[in-house]
Amino acid sequence: MDLVIRHCRVRGEPGLRDIALADGRIAAVGPALPERAPQELDAAGRLATPPLVNPHVHLDKALLGEVMRPNASQTLEEAIAITWDFKRAYTEDDIVRRAGAVVEMAVAQGTLAIRAFADVDTVGGLVPVRGLVATRTRYRHVVRMQVVAFPQEGILRDPGTERLLREAMTLGADVVGGLPWYEMTDGDAREHIDTVFAIAREHDADIHMLVDDTDDPNSRSLEYLAVKTLREGYAGRVSASHCGALAAYNDVYAGKVIGLVRQAGISIVSNPHISLVLAGRRDREPVRRGITRVKELVRAGVNVASGQDDVNDPYYPFGRASQLEVALFMAHTAHQTYPDEIEAVFDMVTVNAARALRLPGYGLAAGSDGDLLLWDAATVKEALTKQLPPAHVIKGGKTLARTSVRSELFL
Ligand SMILES: [Zn+2]
Repeated sequence: MDLVIRHCRVRGEPGLRDIALADGRIAAVGPALPERAPQELDAAGRLATPPLVNPHVHLDKALLGEVMRPNASQTLEEAIAITWDFKRAYTEDDIVRRAGAVVEMAVAQGTLAIRAFADVDTVGGLVPVRGLVATRTRYRHVVRMQVVAFPQEGILRDPGTERLLREAMTLGADVVGGLPWYEMTDGDAREHIDTVFAIAREHDADIHMLVDDTDDPNSRSLEYLAVKTLREGYAGRVSASHCGALAAYNDVYAGKVIGLVRQAGISIVSNPHISLVLAGRRDREPVRRGITRVKELVRAGVNVASGQDDVNDPYYPFGRASQLEVALFMAHTAHQTYPDEIEAVFDMVTVNAARALRLPGYGLAAGSDGDLLLWDAATVKEALTKQLPPAHVIKGGKTLARTSVRSELFL
């Protein structure tokens, strides 16, 4: 053995467990393991979990908040215009620098897998994809990154994007993105979805679209996406983020769409930080929370995951790449505060997100990757409450990051 961690708590297991790691993988998990290693770590009752996974973040735009001009009108329209100014001037190096800073922030906080969206459009061309592919290469020993070729300005609305999406996949993007609800008409939204599936098929790639990111109940592209997924035999390979309109549908139609989503094995990725500040902006009181029907989706057996989405950019001024914070926001936003619901929000940033990304080897069982976190807490609830980074981040059986926080009181 290379490393044995003694006396951990493991979710769903009574008592304490030891975890033995060899050759970069988990070799055994059990009470009082006989395995020995030159290096042993006493977890002293700390919670051990697999790493956090961020299934949705725009690393190409991250940290633009440091350098952008103020959003004078405080509207989404101006945020988009500010982003255009930067996109026209992007360089690959600039993107690697900003994205890399966020990757390092995320790793220290226990996130070892990231699905990163790169804008693909006629404003910035393929520079964001090249930048994030280079970031993926630079950090490949640390974090599993999937790059999404994301048509931020639409496909039919921005002629030329379809060709750029194909080139982005050839340049090394892993996943085909989509933004169907942003097209001009319902018909165009369907054509957008059809185009994304055609490109995904050409590259045998998974799909991750931003769907119905609006309070408008007339935005109905999730229904067509689910049906298309079933017809194309793509069940289990498609994720849909946001789906805010689902919350605005009447209950009968929403129930039908949730059933289709479940049948199509679509993962729903809900990002509470950003929805809370961007959605419901035109509401008078009561102002809606702007997130999708998380509780109903969970109850229907849909795989629900949760991501950071934005880190200090024209869309969102905060963000510290903490998936533990995302889980806490989700607990508040989606009324997930009973014991099983607290476990469920932690699943959204760990196992469910890993399932959406279809990460092989993820987990804490014998044979899994040797990637795990030791929290300065005995339970998920305590970790969520304390909001401290993991005490140890272990990657391939070796310590990758360590955090200790010490307060001094002079009473
Ligand atoms: Zn997003």
